[in-house]
Amino acid sequence: MRFESIETLINSVLATYRCPECESQTNKNNIEILWIAWTSVNLDIICPKCHTHSLFASQMLQMNINLDKFKNTLNKNLKKISDQEIVSLNKDLKKDKINVEDLFE
Ligand SMILES: [Zn+2]
Repeated sequence: MRFESIETLINSVLATYRCPECESQTNKNNIEILWIAWTSVNLDIICPKCHTHSLFASQMLQMNINLDKFKNTLNKNLKKISDQEIVSLNKDLKKDKINVEDLFE
């Protein structure tokens, strides 16, 4: 996956994400990339207000994201996960989490 795709994806997430619990928006500091492969990316999105975690899994098969289409996918793919699930997910992946902020600096 090319970096520009990830940036586009993150920006789209930032533009469309609303916390399922309190409808707050999030920011780059609260998005963590759990896993990236050539065509897919898994994000842990944390609500800055109520700290609800949402897992976002995306298959990126094309470079240009249609925002409306993306919005539907985002809403469909968002699900609440517990801290415990995140921990076990990270353990399974055996990888350090990469904060999105790190990628942009
Ligand atoms: Zn919230």
